[in-house]
Amino acid sequence: MSKFGFSIQETRTIDFEQFDGRLLKYVLEHEPSFRVCLSCGGCTATCSAGNLIDFNVRKMNILIRRGETEGLEKEINKCMLCGKCMLVCPRGINIRNVVMLIKKGIVKFRTIEEPHEKLKLKCHAY
Ligand code: SF4
Ligand code: SF4
Repeated sequence: MSKFGFSIQETRTIDFEQFDGRLLKYVLEHEPSFRVCLSCGGCTATCSAGNLIDFNVRKMNILIRRGETEGLEKEINKCMLCGKCMLVCPRGINIRNVVMLIKKGIVKFRTIEEPHEKLKLKCHAY
């Protein structure tokens, strides 16, 4: 088969029957400011970690809202907790706290029920 330097992307679907919103709910309960994120990307543009390694905090925000949390723990551990993103966010969102809450939430729900199985949700986009 000829290669043209590109490939057709796999079809992506989000099955809302499978959606496990516990992590998102937990984050929103403890950091309600996260609700008003407008996906402007300001946090990503200034992110200390994103400037050094492959880490996209805006994409992370979008994925958690979609319930696509597979691989999230690995991704979240790239955050240096420097707080720079908070200084530029037009909505004043405390991203550092969001990151901490995601970390806590992952551990909390893993301990309550079976491991990652429940927080399984597919993620292809990183
Ligand atoms: S800078 Fe704030 S509003 Fe913009 S994407 Fe980041 S968290 Fe959302
Ligand atoms: S706190 Fe984390 S997400 Fe925010 S700028 Fe620093 S490394 Fe990036």
